Amino acid sequence: MKANLHPKYNLLNVTCSCGASFTTGSTKDSIVVDICSKCHPFFTGEQRFVDKVGRVQKYQAKAAAATGKKAKKDRKSTQNGPASLTELRASQAK
Ligand SMILES: [Zn+2]
Repeated sequence: MKANLHPKYNLLNVTCSCGASFTTGSTKDSIVVDICSKCHPFFTGEQRFVDKVGRVQKYQAKAAAATGKKAKKDRKSTQNGPASLTELRASQAK
């Protein structure tokens, strides 16, 4: 084997979203999978919907980003014009 060419081969635990884990070899540091032979409907024989890892976290990040944008928009609208219809009428009446 040539020196400083090949990636490091690690023994690591593969973790499934169902909680099962098993050991394998890989050049990666850790592996997280959505489905394994312990919980795949083909092996369990039951029919169900499969949840993906991190979907809740993805949604929360998306929601946080959306509220951040909304807050920015709100700030802009207060800087540029009147906040309410009554304020607009009051400013036009003067
Ligand atoms: Zn599993």
